[in-house]
Amino acid sequence: MFNVYEFFNKISSLNPKIRLDAGQPDINVDERIIEEAVSSLKRGETGYTKTPGLDELREKIAEVEGVEKENVIVGNGSKILIASQILRARRIGVISPYWQAYESIAKAFGKEVKIFKTSLEDGWKPKIERLNVDLLILNYPNNPTGKILPREKLKEILEIAEDGNVKVLADEIYSDITFKPFTPARELYDNVVTVKGFSKLFAMTGFRLGYAIAQREDIKAMQKFLEVTTTCVPIFIQKAGVKALEIREEVKKRVVKIYEERARLASRILKDFEFYEPDGAFYLFVRIGIDGLSFAEKLLEKGVSVFPGIAFGDYGDFIRISLVSSRLEEGLKIIKEVKLCASE
Ligand code: PLP
Repeated sequence: MFNVYEFFNKISSLNPKIRLDAGQPDINVDERIIEEAVSSLKRGETGYTKTPGLDELREKIAEVEGVEKENVIVGNGSKILIASQILRARRIGVISPYWQAYESIAKAFGKEVKIFKTSLEDGWKPKIERLNVDLLILNYPNNPTGKILPREKLKEILEIAEDGNVKVLADEIYSDITFKPFTPARELYDNVVTVKGFSKLFAMTGFRLGYAIAQREDIKAMQKFLEVTTTCVPIFIQKAGVKALEIREEVKKRVVKIYEERARLASRILKDFEFYEPDGAFYLFVRIGIDGLSFAEKLLEKGVSVFPGIAFGDYGDFIRISLVSSRLEEGLKIIKEVKLCASE
């Protein structure tokens, strides 16, 4: 299996001038969020706190998501909450292309992974007839394709999950960055654990703050896992989370516009390539027709970093471009030039 973390470390040590590799937004964390974290520390809020999260943050999340506080738990990034669900299952269904962490976590815990492959030709729509897994992971808007499943297609998959009594883990971390209508999985099926976070919309990646919305027994299971592992999210980080949610609408308006413009710009510049025009998130998954890993390595020599398609499953002739740099246009032009030279 291609090791995305090793490749990321290699990129980081080479320090290329234009980074289009990781899901690390170049947008600054809003000053008001930083100020709240700092003043919380200055107030002396430096101790442990309750594992499920501060009431204030859980209440705010519940209000934003339209659920009860008891159906919300806060975690140290959404990834740990995803891991806690994978740990409880035996056989995990993942739709490819996928964020590699699902597979890495499952393998680290000795779980079986069943991959449902989708293709660009089919508009990245899964064809699932039967589910013999205990947990199905859905990730829409999708990393790396930017796909949002139409409501009817999502419903069809969730009905199959319901027929097989399969729990669904809906990783909706990009659901605030959408350019088309989006339906949360929990609107259509009860047995859903939804995971979201602050890393993408608010660019708070290093704060390590995420949350899950689920039925109470799933919340309890996640709480148990966090009790024996991370204990709690630092109070000042949670306070920053409350502030972020207070200014969410304003941030959303500004940030979605930036990513939508970047997606349109990238689609225009790369119009001769094959890709799905993104419905949301901030990635472009592009077929380049040659080996994606050697291409990514060649690009690195020119000072531009992307991830090869093999980081997301069996997609050797793809690359993923993260639309996270304000130098995107320059980076895309270099991508085009390197492709031209490689094809000659
Ligand atoms: N889920 C997906 C699909 C992601 O792409 C990422 C980050 O790249 C995460 C989860 C991780 O988010 P967090 O920083 O909240 O752990």
